[in-house]
Amino acid sequence: MLTGSLLAAPARAEPGAPPRTGFETSKGARWTTQAEEADFLADVDKASARVAVDTLGATAQGRPLNLVRIGAPAAPADAARAARGNSLMLICSQHGDEPSGREACLTTIRDLAYAKDPGTRRFLERTNVLVVPTANPDGRAADTRGNSEGTDINRDHLALTTAESRAMARVIRDWRPDTVYDLHEYGATVPYYKKDLLALWPRNLNTSTPVHREARTLSDTYVRPHAEDAGFSTGVYGIWTDPETGEPVKQVAGDGQERILRNTAGVKNSVGQLVETRVDPLTDAEKGRPRRQQQAPGGLPTRRPGRRVRLREGASSVDRGRHHRGPALRLRGPRPGVPRRRGQRTGRGGRGAPRPAVRLPVGRSAVRRHTG
Ligand SMILES: [Zn+2]
Repeated sequence: MLTGSLLAAPARAEPGAPPRTGFETSKGARWTTQAEEADFLADVDKASARVAVDTLGATAQGRPLNLVRIGAPAAPADAARAARGNSLMLICSQHGDEPSGREACLTTIRDLAYAKDPGTRRFLERTNVLVVPTANPDGRAADTRGNSEGTDINRDHLALTTAESRAMARVIRDWRPDTVYDLHEYGATVPYYKKDLLALWPRNLNTSTPVHREARTLSDTYVRPHAEDAGFSTGVYGIWTDPETGEPVKQVAGDGQERILRNTAGVKNSVGQLVETRVDPLTDAEKGRPRRQQQAPGGLPTRRPGRRVRLREGASSVDRGRHHRGPALRLRGPRPGVPRRRGQRTGRGGRGAPRPAVRLPVGRSAVRRHTG
């Protein structure tokens, strides 16, 4: 009897070993289930003083909306104090049918909790990391873009009609994250729109000039070069480019609506950053075998030197400068101080900075998904 019940128990990590997600244990054959996520977060929370898990509320179908707080030597507990320091927020898979961001966030939580290298420790001593690992649990369970009420949460950050968007708004209000990453997936349109990773900054005209400038710098000088260093192609979200010249030909998404989180974050004086990874239909060969996890670079805690800015002092609530409209279409041209070659993992001179501990899996899906 006892042996039978032990054999039937779900696989949990060996004592002391870092837990693994369902995506990892299945070698990428399936996504992590809600029950596996609950076990995984409980294990990390219990094992590491760096991590604490809060329940922000519940969805309409009763699933928990969690916030994971990470810091060193201990998880940040005082929102007002954290608001005065460095903080980074990851919002993962607001669209329930775009699950790779959630997987990246779960493994990132674990990796930050267990990392022993001095670089990660120093990063966590200086930076509070806040993660909403499953921003749309009902949508994830049903594999739908919207939540169980059919609402697209990423169009609800102004009206705040959903439990999900209200939970995120409370975290942003209370913790005042400096940077907010919003992780999504998109379907390619060959040959114009097919980069491995697309990024975009807040484009609402009410974003303060310093916040807008830092968000664009984060995208152009950090997120995209890190991805390209690891051998992935990158582009600007919403912009089709000519396959021959690389010049922009059309804008199809990425506008300035305040109700979209990337823009909401900017208006609330956070450096908002949308990151979209491409999904492709499975090939015939892949349909017959388990999926293998690919590893992509983080656009997450970056350790490139040279950016130490204080945004809050310079941030005003309203700025109607013209710059937010123009630059999204001027995509090509050198980025200051960022030499690179595709596939090059380490660079010259100042490029010897430690690699981020964070890796985003690139999802492959059986179904071509809609944009954004
Ligand atoms: Zn999306």
